[in-house]
Amino acid sequence: MDPRLQKIEQKIAAGERLDRDDALALFTTDDLFEVGRIANGQKEKIHGNKIHFGVSLNINHTNICSLRCPICAFSTDKDADNAYFLSQDEISARVAKATRHDISEVHIVGGLHDSISLTYFKDMFAEIRRIAPAMNINALTATECDFISRKEDIPLDRLFTELKEAGLGSMPGGGAEILDETIRQQITPLKISGERWLEVSKAAHQAGIRTNATMLWGHIESYADRVEHMFRLRELQDQTNGFKSFVPLLFHPQNTQLSHLSKVTSAAEILKVYAASRLVLDNFPHIKALWMYLGLKFATVVLRFGADDMGATSYDERIVHAAGSQTTSVSKDKLVYQIQSMQLIPYEVDSNYRLIKKHA
Ligand code: SF4
Repeated sequence: MDPRLQKIEQKIAAGERLDRDDALALFTTDDLFEVGRIANGQKEKIHGNKIHFGVSLNINHTNICSLRCPICAFSTDKDADNAYFLSQDEISARVAKATRHDISEVHIVGGLHDSISLTYFKDMFAEIRRIAPAMNINALTATECDFISRKEDIPLDRLFTELKEAGLGSMPGGGAEILDETIRQQITPLKISGERWLEVSKAAHQAGIRTNATMLWGHIESYADRVEHMFRLRELQDQTNGFKSFVPLLFHPQNTQLSHLSKVTSAAEILKVYAASRLVLDNFPHIKALWMYLGLKFATVVLRFGADDMGATSYDERIVHAAGSQTTSVSKDKLVYQIQSMQLIPYEVDSNYRLIKKHA
């Protein structure tokens, strides 16, 4: 075994935290299966054979976005032919339809522009609650919350109090990308800084709203950038304990301004990202392998490399679809089958990991 992995395994057994050199070793070692064995051991210590998944409706309410980030295949300009902005009636119709399909959660993220406001979301949440009172509302990235806060001059604590009262149940973790500023300048130059992303997440946690944290990887970042990203998240989690899940997102260059970056990622590289996430982020309960980014079958392999969550059915998803994903929703039965095929037990949950059903 790679002696660096031996040292890592000893540290974990002794209850010591991994440092930056250890984290780098997890990315640079050739001993893929040993990395997987150690990460799977940690996953099993916390979750046993459980694998979590959700049954969700996605609402991407608008693709109009003033930021037009180079990494984004989804956004467009206001006057473009493919621009859309869903009305409350259209959103209500989608939610009403979802109630006929056993859907327990609605996941809402979209672009940033003038028509977006706190009132728009409060009205939307009220309408969702009226149609489906038990449905968890998992909505708004830290980027969107910062946008509303600045546009309407509402301090973050008040914004989160009002959103929570309106029905916000949890927040997804989008917009973290890679927290390092030199990387952000190239991939998302107009988006909030990494520091601000952490500040908004912290304010959400302090308001009692639990969130996820993403890492968009596989573009121009180095291993050291990934490691630093994870350590900044780990530090904030030590303070707030407000993150539920870490969500590595493999960058899909198709249809983005960075489409010249060829996709050179290997399966080994993907597996190491999940294993390193489990081992470095020792204070994150969940590591999410979104099947939509990895492909349904490959995502099940990741479940043996540290991940304990496969994402959700994601009915009506548009963002990953815009970046070339062939399949953007899957039936609950298929997810259950894929998880069981790895001799693991599917636990159907919402974004706050409240159990909906154990599929024995
Ligand atoms: S990534 Fe988000 S903020 Fe950036 S252009 Fe796309 S929708 Fe807008």
